[in-house]
Amino acid sequence: MDYIQQSKGHYFPLMDVFGKYGRFCAYYSLEIMVCFLTMFVGAVSLNLHSPFELCQWSIECQNVDEDKLPTRTNSDAVLLSLLRCVTIIYFFIKLRRINQLGSVHLVMGVCICMTFGSIVFAATLLQLMQKNWIVVGSALPIFLLSVDISRLVSLIQHCLTAHSYNAVQDRISEAMRVIGPSITFDTVLEIFVIMMSSAMKVRQLQEIFCFACLSVLLNYIVFTTFVPACLSILLMNTRRGSRNSKPVWHNETFSKALYNHGGQIRFKLKLMIGCLLLLFNCIRLFYGESLYHGENFQEGFDMIFTMTPQHFFTLIITMLLLGKFFLQNSNIEVAQSAQVTEFVSYGNAKQTVDYSAHIDPDPTECAPRDLDTCVALLQDNSDLLTDLEIISLVQAKKIQSHRLEVDLRDPNRGVSIRRKLLHQKLEYKERQDALAQIPFAHYNFSKATAACCENTVGYIPVPVGVCGPLLMNGDPYHVPMATTEGTLLASTNRGMKAVLLSGGVECTVYRDGMTRAPVVEFPTSRKACEMAEWLKDPFKFVLLKDKFDETSRFARLESIHPMVCGRSLYIRFNATTGDAMGMNMVSKGVEHTLKWLQENIRPDMRVISLSGNVCTDKKSSSINWTLGRGKSVVAEARIPSNIVRDVLKTDVDSLVHLNTSKNLIGSAMAGSIGGFNAHAANAVTALYIATGQDPAQNVEGSNCITLLEKLDSTQGGDGSLLITCTMPCIEVATCGGGTALNAQRACLDMLGLGGGSSGVENALSGHNARQFASIVCGTVLCSELSLLAALSAGHLVRSHMRHNRLPCEPRTPDQSEHGGLVNL
Ligand code: NAP
Repeated sequence: MDYIQQSKGHYFPLMDVFGKYGRFCAYYSLEIMVCFLTMFVGAVSLNLHSPFELCQWSIECQNVDEDKLPTRTNSDAVLLSLLRCVTIIYFFIKLRRINQLGSVHLVMGVCICMTFGSIVFAATLLQLMQKNWIVVGSALPIFLLSVDISRLVSLIQHCLTAHSYNAVQDRISEAMRVIGPSITFDTVLEIFVIMMSSAMKVRQLQEIFCFACLSVLLNYIVFTTFVPACLSILLMNTRRGSRNSKPVWHNETFSKALYNHGGQIRFKLKLMIGCLLLLFNCIRLFYGESLYHGENFQEGFDMIFTMTPQHFFTLIITMLLLGKFFLQNSNIEVAQSAQVTEFVSYGNAKQTVDYSAHIDPDPTECAPRDLDTCVALLQDNSDLLTDLEIISLVQAKKIQSHRLEVDLRDPNRGVSIRRKLLHQKLEYKERQDALAQIPFAHYNFSKATAACCENTVGYIPVPVGVCGPLLMNGDPYHVPMATTEGTLLASTNRGMKAVLLSGGVECTVYRDGMTRAPVVEFPTSRKACEMAEWLKDPFKFVLLKDKFDETSRFARLESIHPMVCGRSLYIRFNATTGDAMGMNMVSKGVEHTLKWLQENIRPDMRVISLSGNVCTDKKSSSINWTLGRGKSVVAEARIPSNIVRDVLKTDVDSLVHLNTSKNLIGSAMAGSIGGFNAHAANAVTALYIATGQDPAQNVEGSNCITLLEKLDSTQGGDGSLLITCTMPCIEVATCGGGTALNAQRACLDMLGLGGGSSGVENALSGHNARQFASIVCGTVLCSELSLLAALSAGHLVRSHMRHNRLPCEPRTPDQSEHGGLVNL
């Protein structure tokens, strides 16, 4: 986040004025530029000079003959050369840092604005003040040093964050809204400080102050008038497509988000100048006016050195102490008053704005500040901390690694720093390189880290394909599936084609309810049995339902199934949960109901666990197979024999015989629970991953019995194939859990089923989730059909060899050397 983004939350009335002014400049950029230049050229051609002598802040100055070149002493020459050297070094460092930001547009913008400002300044001196080129040469460094580069960069950077050409003008308005009041305040302050300094009557100093005053004023005028208009013209004219198209600078990635050294240095400089002025005025008090009657620096310095050593050392020590105090504290003070002064940060805080996969330590990063300062900044504004400082805070246990996203109030930065921490912990280079390969960029971690994954260090991309259309209950669906098993989509697609040509698949949800079964214990088995009886009473059920239902707008208790075992009682609560899968909702409802039961009905009941495994979640169990969990769905399709022959390349009799031998007898021989199918888990898992379901629930979700029959003429089939898939445990959702993640939600949206159903009744009955469960079952039927056909025709191995094999890359000798656990 840049400075302007950070400051958006603050408000005071002057901001609106500047916001509107910025918008005005941006929209009427050409008019502003023409007006500005006309006024400037007009003023310059007025050829103003005497009787106004702008340099003169004091009466004595009026007698100076301006036609003569100023007489310069050796000390003047040394000071001027020093000033020029400082200016050149300062600008070299500044421009190098701007260049490091990685944007051509930024460098171009800064150069244009500074060149234009310098021309305005030089022309003003030459024409308005009747100075000559030698004076311009001496005064220009003062002007350049007074340019507020950090604000200029901040303004341009903010404009470059515009995602379309249309947004540029809004960005300029936003930036001016934030920067305008603070630059006005600074200009007034700076002019006030300079005018105070004119009390010193050393002639050269007065001249410098006069130039400084003019510089500050011109800078202000150029910044608030020329810069916004010029930026608008410059950026809008790079446009090649429509105003809504992606700007050409959009591909530029800023390597650093904040350009902020300038602000820090400028603030320190201001403080130092303030201190110096204070000290000079103190000296004035000690020594009266004598110090200020000197004609040049030489005399002024001579006078200082005629002070007693005692006074001199007292002054030096005071200056050092003041300087040290302000230099140390300016970071925190300015951070707190960032709105009215400038933004201040340290080093390249918040440096990874594009959150690239880069995790190596940055050699250009400053050394961390001390821990107390970092802790203070963490509480105040963590954006002001560099990555190194955050890492040092984690190492000092001031931030817990798993709370980085929360404590930094920035999920993406939290993940980025956790990667850096992990990078340090992985000792071997090849492991560190491997971590860098885990994708991180271009992902919004806010939803993922809030509800789906802890200790996040990246994301795993899984290819997503599409099958279809699946013609289900008369409607076509293009079904997204995320998988790494080649042939799965090709095969399912073939099944869907056969079903489509046969008139589609009919799916029916015949039961719906999520279950949670706590285990509770009683003092005796008799008491456990009494409680089981109590729970079976329909009137008592109404009491419990009231308690349960008040915990959610959508969860509705449907039934309770108690099971006694010794002193223990397993109470299987079963509830509908709208469009959510419902595990959290039901757990919440059950906890609340048990608490009520304990407090009001059976104080002797002890809750052993909210889940007693009779639920049964993510484990294979016969109770799920028999009673169902989530949505129970049956899918049915009739495939004419010619389609079996032409599309599936087999015949009906072979398919029926194969299904009986494999899916029924074979699975029975294996003692399978709910595994009477060829590969239901394949389609279930691929669909679950693509749409953000809980993929671990593929255990019970894949429970399926596939039945095949040959329909004779008495059944209206004429030798066609009847296929059904019955799946009692499809635990799916269209809202809640992983379905909220952008890509997963997009897959659901592709089916027209993303989010909660519209209308209260549909939402309560979970229309979208039921529809999605039907798609799961219909897709399973198609993939079953195709795989059985491939097995029957003997094509299975051949197609897997073609579509499902990549050479396994051997480990490099380097990896083998360090990769084993032995080395850890
Ligand atoms: P959830 O995201 O915890 O809850 C669903 C939320 O959506 C509720 O706040 C619900 O409102 C709201 N909602 C809005 N519109 C809705 C609609 N039309 N239908 C239903 N709810 C709607 O989701 P969940 O399904 O209960 O739980 C799913 C999560 O549980 C998954 O992340 C899964 O991995 C995890 N899980 C948990 C356990 C466990 O033991 N707790 C076990 C396995 C998996 P209300 O607040 O009014 O209900």
